[in-house]
Amino acid sequence: MKQVSITVLVEHTAQGHSLLAEHGLSFWVEIGPRRILFDAGQTDIVSHNARMLDIDLSSMDAMVLSHGHYDHTGGLAAIARSKTGRERGVIAYAHPRAMEEKYARNADGTGRYIGMAADSRNALHTPFELRKTEAPIEIGEGLTVTGPIPRVTDFEDTGGPFFKDPECRHPDDLADDQAAFLETSAGTIVILGCAHAGIVNTLSYVTQLVPDRPIHTVIGGTHLVSADEKRMNKTVEALRAIDIQRLFPLHCTGFQAAARLWKEFPDRVRACPVGTKVELPV
Ligand SMILES: [Zn+2]
Ligand SMILES: [Zn+2]
Repeated sequence: MKQVSITVLVEHTAQGHSLLAEHGLSFWVEIGPRRILFDAGQTDIVSHNARMLDIDLSSMDAMVLSHGHYDHTGGLAAIARSKTGRERGVIAYAHPRAMEEKYARNADGTGRYIGMAADSRNALHTPFELRKTEAPIEIGEGLTVTGPIPRVTDFEDTGGPFFKDPECRHPDDLADDQAAFLETSAGTIVILGCAHAGIVNTLSYVTQLVPDRPIHTVIGGTHLVSADEKRMNKTVEALRAIDIQRLFPLHCTGFQAAARLWKEFPDRVRACPVGTKVELPV
């Protein structure tokens, strides 16, 4: 039977011999014969963990970048440096705005760079080949990249003080934020990067793109780390209505939000450290 499996390569927690954790996110997605890297983490930990998990990154058929922040793109340079030659021409799907400069505002008002590093940006031209996503696009074996996600809810925001300039004058709406999804016999699987568009906006958009199918599994960053009580309440309400079967809130979900989600959905929310493999029949 054809399977989809998603292995956590980079996350804030790790469980297993010699596996490493960092602030970042990366998944290795296998659908039948196809191998896709979804995000690349922050450093070369992605390559280290792949080796420890017996995953050959050079067997990659395609790559998806959820957005341009350093913690999702920094590992690209390390992967490019591995120079097996087999990554040449592998298509990396990213929104054009992912390549732009990105900053976060510090508590003292100064800005710090949190965008893609130059060597990662260069890797998107050689050895990888950038394909810009401005609308939903199917990238093989049914996996679809959403492209930009409409912002509809009145209670979600990008989740932080994000700006386009070092002086922090021009807010960054993270228009590059995208997710990926796949229909399976059990329902739709949704893979999130940071969900800067909002988890509810993201899941609503997927439901719009795949009507009449339940969302079965959601895995990835939800960026609820700084969500207030109102946003958490409304998010929980929406997730209850969507009736998700399995939720793996990782990365920028934050401890408090993850704890709240687990309390609300004790049988459905699970921890998912580096090394975890989530599988479903397609
Ligand atoms: Zn981000
Ligand atoms: Zn992130």
